Amino acid sequence: MKLLYTNENRLLVSNVKNIVECAGVEVTLRNEFSGGGVGELSTIDSWLELWVVSDEDYEKANDVIASSINADNAQGWFCSGCAEKNDASFDFCWNCQTEKNVD
Ligand SMILES: [Zn+2]
Repeated sequence: MKLLYTNENRLLVSNVKNIVECAGVEVTLRNEFSGGGVGELSTIDSWLELWVVSDEDYEKANDVIASSINADNAQGWFCSGCAEKNDASFDFCWNCQTEKNVD
C-alpha cells in the first residue's frame, strides 16, 4: 500500500478517489471517521488519506490525478498583465483587456 493523496479538504480527497477508481485503480481511505473529534489530534492526523492498494498501480494513479489537475487548470488562465484569473472562454482579460497569452 502506498499513500497516494491527502488533503485537509475531504471533498477533494473523495473527488480524487472517484477519479482514480474510474481509471480502474483499487484504492482505500484512511482517517475516514476521524473528522469529528479533532480536539486531541493534530490537524494533519485527521486529514483524509487515499491509499493505493497495489503498489504497481501507484504510478498509473498518479498520472490520472496529474492529468485531471491539468484539466482543471485548462478551465482558466492568468493574465500576463495583471495576474487576474480569467475564465477559459475569455480571450481578453476581464480586468485590463490584455490578450490571452497562448503558449
Ligand atoms: Zn489583466
